[in-house]
Amino acid sequence: MSPPCGSACFTLRDVTVRYNGGPAALDGVSLRVEPGEAVAFVGPSGAGKTTLLRVLAGSHRPSGGTAELNGRALDALSPSELREARACIGFVHQDLSLIPNVRVIKNVITGRLGRQSFWRSLRSMVLPSRDQVVTAHEILDRVGIGEKLYERTDRLSGGQQQRVALARALFQEPGALLADEPVSSVDPARARDVIGLLRAVSEERKLTLLCSLHDLALAREFFPRLIGVRQGRFMFDAPPTEVAPRSFDHLYRM
Ligand code: ADP
Repeated sequence: MSPPCGSACFTLRDVTVRYNGGPAALDGVSLRVEPGEAVAFVGPSGAGKTTLLRVLAGSHRPSGGTAELNGRALDALSPSELREARACIGFVHQDLSLIPNVRVIKNVITGRLGRQSFWRSLRSMVLPSRDQVVTAHEILDRVGIGEKLYERTDRLSGGQQQRVALARALFQEPGALLADEPVSSVDPARARDVIGLLRAVSEERKLTLLCSLHDLALAREFFPRLIGVRQGRFMFDAPPTEVAPRSFDHLYRM
C-alpha cells in the first residue's frame, strides 16, 4: 500500500492544452491552490473546465507550461511516480464511471486499487477483507447510504449513485477531491445536498476540493473561491462576494 496522502496543493504555470493541434482548450492559465482549499471552476459548457481538472489530476499532459502536484512537476515524474501521485487524487467523474451490475461495495473498493499491488487489488475485488468492508460501510454511512452496501449499483437512483462515486473516491484516502460537474444528473434539491456533502467531507478530512460547476448559485453558496473560465482562460479568481455581477453575466454571454 502506498504511503498516506497529505492534503494536496496544486500549481499551474502558463498551461496550454490543444487537442490534436486544434484551438486552445486551455490558453496559458496559471493557478495556485493551497492544501485544504475549496475552489469552484464556473463557466459555460466548452470553457475548458474538464480539461483543467484532467491536467490538475495528472491524467492529461499539457501541450505547454507545467502542472505541479505538491510542488513536483508532473511531467518530470517517472510512470510509477506519476501513478503514485495520481492515486492521491480522488476524481468524481461527470458520468460517475461506476460498474453498473455489481454490488455497491465492489464499486467503493475499486477506489483503492491504484494504491495497491495488482494481486492485492485482485484479492480485494474477489474477497474484500473485514477491514475493507467496515471502512466501506462507514464511508457509505457518512455519505448517507450505509444501508446500500450490498445493493446492486444500477438499482440505485441517480443521486444515490452520485454518493457511491463520492464514497469510492473517499475510500481511496486521497489528499484531494476533484469533481467534474458532480450534480449535472441530479435534480436541483438533491444537487444542493450533494455539494453540501462534498464540502463537508472535504473539510472533515482536510482534503483540497476542486469542483467544476455549471450552477453558479451553488458555487456562490458553497465555495469561498470561484474561478471563472471562458474560452480556456480565467476571467476572475476571487471570493464570490468580490466578483461583480457583470463578471458573471460576461462569463455566460455568447
Ligand atoms: P467544459 O468542461 O468546460 O465543458 P472541456 O474541457 O470539456 O470544457 O472542453 C474544452 C474544449 O476542448 C471544447 O472546445 C471541447 O470541444 C474541446 N475538447 C475537450 N475534450 C476534447 C477531446 N478529447 N478531443 C478534442 N477536443 C476536445
